Amino acid sequence: MAELKFRSPKGVHDLLPAENQYMTYIKKAVRHRARQAGYKRIDPPIFEDRSLFERGIGEHTDIVEKELFGVGRKGADEVLDFALRPEFTAGICRSYIQHGMQELPQPVELYSIGPCFRYDRPQKGRFRQFHQFDFEVIGLSDPSIDAQMIQVAWKIFGDLKIQKRLTLQINNIGATEDRKAYVDALKEFFSGKERNLPEIDRKRVQTNPLRLLDSKEEDTQILVKMAPKLSQFVNEESKKYHSDLLEYLTELDIPFTENHGLVRGLDYYNQTVFEFWDRSTGAQNAVGGGGRYDYLIEQLGGKPTPGVGFAVGMERVMWHMQEAGVEAPFKDQVDVFVAQLGPDAKKKCLKIVSELRELGIHTVGALGEASLKSQMRLADRFQARYCLLLGQIEVKEGTIILRDMIAGKQKQMKFEKAIPEVVKLVGKESLDTYSIQDKLGEFSDPGEG
Ligand code: AMP
Repeated sequence: MAELKFRSPKGVHDLLPAENQYMTYIKKAVRHRARQAGYKRIDPPIFEDRSLFERGIGEHTDIVEKELFGVGRKGADEVLDFALRPEFTAGICRSYIQHGMQELPQPVELYSIGPCFRYDRPQKGRFRQFHQFDFEVIGLSDPSIDAQMIQVAWKIFGDLKIQKRLTLQINNIGATEDRKAYVDALKEFFSGKERNLPEIDRKRVQTNPLRLLDSKEEDTQILVKMAPKLSQFVNEESKKYHSDLLEYLTELDIPFTENHGLVRGLDYYNQTVFEFWDRSTGAQNAVGGGGRYDYLIEQLGGKPTPGVGFAVGMERVMWHMQEAGVEAPFKDQVDVFVAQLGPDAKKKCLKIVSELRELGIHTVGALGEASLKSQMRLADRFQARYCLLLGQIEVKEGTIILRDMIAGKQKQMKFEKAIPEVVKLVGKESLDTYSIQDKLGEFSDPGEG
């Protein structure tokens, strides 16, 4: 193929119609489960102050250190320093504070769906623009809340028929003080051993030693095996919180694997952390993850307010669905293709196309000047189920030809009969109608068309 003048940037993909079929299906399941559980939709902006992410997610995390996509503008009198959102939680918490949501009945349950951006090294399952659905419960801390929220994710995976491919990995990383004590212990353990660490991990001993735990470097992993364990530092209250949560999960029939090595890469977590892993590949390409963040809102300038949330990568969900052979319903089929020849026929066709569409029949009209024969070929390529043909003779006679494209049979009928006949063939249950008017009621515009 000739060299293209433009291609999408590296790590960024078009969501083509076939993929949108899946995306729409995933969103539908998400919205459905969200509504059932009382979550309301929020859409924080796609970019925010860079410092929100730095403060919220943590300066020494991979996401902030290496993966933020900066956007900004240097004007004469101001420098705008923004970043594209790498995830939803920080933005949603900022919004909770900004809009005084602590005045609402607590907990406030919010969900969002949309694109996120990370300057990751592009590879399988890792993109620079990807999509997440995200759930947050803000204002209360209780293991039953964590369990119920995890259940929503689990139900969605069930709806999308990929539950069996995933495992829930869960851990409790204790209170912030516990983590601090643990970080100090790790620093102490590694100090003096830096020489044995690869370059990239040496700095982490000081900046974020927790990141050594899931380092991919073999030398680091050997030392990590001998290092103190986080579970030794988790306080009794957190242990009770965790065992309650596990009991609730059992009560809800959600299988889990306790994973004491799981810490998650973001700074804001405390207590519960969890991830949904691919049963066959494990941590690599996790489908989603989340946890409790009881100090984040305070850290962002709000009143102390606990919270818990999770996010799921939609491209990875789609991949699992495809691997599992789950087909997303195809709703873009063309029911009727209308072909015409001559100026009078064209006018009539325009009208018939519009009427069929209004009735909920997916209709495409070839309103160009091509011959009837080439229009029929086009109908075939559109995979239309039926074709209506209107040439000069039919116009004169007040008739129309209806062709069944699969059977390859056609019949001529009175023009007025065509629409009821097509409705009958397509079937009332397949009509794609949308009655927004009923719902809008008194607000509807009385104008026609
Ligand atoms: P995280 O909070 O980093 O664990 O991200 C939550 C989920 O978002 C992950 O489990 C992935 O499914 C998805 N995700 C994160 N980063 C990417 C990426 N670069 N490309 C595709 N999906 C991603």
